[in-house]
Parts: sequence; C-alpha cells; structure tokens
Amino acid sequence: MSTAADLEGEDRALAELFAILASEKHPALVVPPGHDCAVLSLPAASPGRVIVTTDVLVDGVHFDLAECGPEAAAGKSLLVNLSDLAAAAAVPVGFEVGVVLPRDRDPDLLVRLARGLATVANRYDCPCAGGDTNVADGPLTLAVTACGAVGPGGVVTRTGARVGDVLSVTGPLGGSRGGRHLDFVPRLAEARVLAERGVPHAMMDLSDGLSRDLPRLCRASNVGAEVEGARVPVHPDAQEATRGATPLEAALHDGEDFELLLAHAPLAGSERDALRAAGVDLTEIGRVLDAAEGILLRTPAGSRPLDPQGYDHFLRE
Ligand SMILES: [Mg+2]
Repeated sequence: MSTAADLEGEDRALAELFAILASEKHPALVVPPGHDCAVLSLPAASPGRVIVTTDVLVDGVHFDLAECGPEAAAGKSLLVNLSDLAAAAAVPVGFEVGVVLPRDRDPDLLVRLARGLATVANRYDCPCAGGDTNVADGPLTLAVTACGAVGPGGVVTRTGARVGDVLSVTGPLGGSRGGRHLDFVPRLAEARVLAERGVPHAMMDLSDGLSRDLPRLCRASNVGAEVEGARVPVHPDAQEATRGATPLEAALHDGEDFELLLAHAPLAGSERDALRAAGVDLTEIGRVLDAAEGILLRTPAGSRPLDPQGYDHFLRE
C-alpha cells in the first residue's frame, strides 16, 4: 500500500485513517481495508451467523466536538455500537466507520478521529475492517457499523420477557451528560456471563433513558412492567439535581447510561452471589406485568404511568 504522503484527496484521507487504525494485521481480517469489501472471519466456535448493529452520531447532538475533542467523539461512536453488541450478548468481530467531515475543520481532525477509534478498537479487540469518508457543509457525522459473533450463551434479544419476571440493571443510572456518556464500559463481559448462565429472558442496553427504553423492551415482549422508584440505582453524577429534576427523575430519563436492562426469572441468593463473584452486580428495579397493566412507576405516593421522557431525536425537531 502507498503511504499517505504519496496520495491526495480521499485516497490520502483513507490511507491516513487506516495507517492509524492499522487493522490489516488483525487475524480476523481475511481481506483488510483497501479493497471494495473487507472479509472478516468469525471465531471457530461461533455458528455461521453475524450480529450487526449501527449508530449515527452527529456533532452538536451526541457530542460537542469543540468541548470533548475528536478522540472522545470517535471513541464514543464505537463504544455505543459495542454496547448494542453487549445487549445481544455478542462477541465483537469488527467494525466499519463512515465519516462526514465538515468543510471547515482542523487539518488534523481525521487523524485524531482515527486515534480515538483505534484506542477503543484495541481495548475491545474489535478491528476496523474499512470505512468511507466524505466532506460536506455540515457538522461532523460518524456512522459506525459493528459486527459480532454469537456469544457462548447464544443471542439475546428484547423478546422473551415473561409475566412474573424481575427487571434488573447492571449499574447506576442518570447524569451521564456530565461526561460519562463519552467514555464508558460497554457491558460485554457482564452480558457474556449472564447469557452463559441463561439468565436474561430479554435484554437491551439503556441508551435513551429507562423511561423510553423500557417500553421498547415491553413492546417487543408484549408485556407490561412496574418500576419501583426506590430501587432504581442513582449514579453519583445524578445525585445533584439538575434542571429542576430530582435524582430519581435523572436516573429514569437522562439516557446514555449504557447499562443493560434485562428481564429474568427471580434469582436465588446463591445465584446472585455467583453472578457477583463473576463480576455482574445486578440491581432489581421492578417486575414484568401483563401488557394490559401498562408501564408503571411505583413511589411511596402510589403507582402511576411511567411516561417516556428520555431522549428521542425525532420528538425534538
Ligand atoms: Mg441499543
């Protein structure tokens, strides 16, 4: 391959990108970036299925480039996809990235984006299989598509929650906009442990807030749910009430927590201890009800509908 210095225009941009991502050496890449398509090999133990997910992140919406810098923005664009793979209990195999660069930009923007992607790619052993770049009069836009193999516990989806199940989360919620949403740990390891033990009946990652994501899981499983307000773990970042919201409201509605929400059979204390020893600390926040009961929030004042107030881009237009 030519070095970036010999090239110009888009060829140069792509060469710069892949020189830093350096994925061509990864054993999973049978055909590395530089061709029309890449070829990825799945782990030998994996059945012949590919799990695919994609997310589009835009400057000013999902990150503030001027504030967080290109490395963090790019890192987040891969992390959110890894979080979706975790929701399926998948094992990351590789990713592709589409970058729309603003016409008015710092000359080192692409290189810094590549560094941010490479950091996360290396951390989770998820090589870059390729990508595309463009320039337009608009904000920086990053579109990542990640591929995963079926994990040892099989695929988990949002379908399968049953009446009588317990709802649990893998960590505290709320206040992520303080900075946590840019660099977090996708719950890949936790999902693997849970799936291997056959715990989740249904699972998803919390990207848009519990109040907006829980109804999605319930719709997919055709069930209702009740969240017990007092049991929702509130992140320290949300303890300081912001914008007039209480810490519980922040935990229910803020979004971008990237913890897992799962429905599962009630766990015996010994099972809970075994999960904790394996690094999975579940907090029970509610239970699954019949669909006719809707989605409820129980507080000392009584039970009332849990209205979705998490982030929805289309409702903010
Ligand atoms: Mg998701």
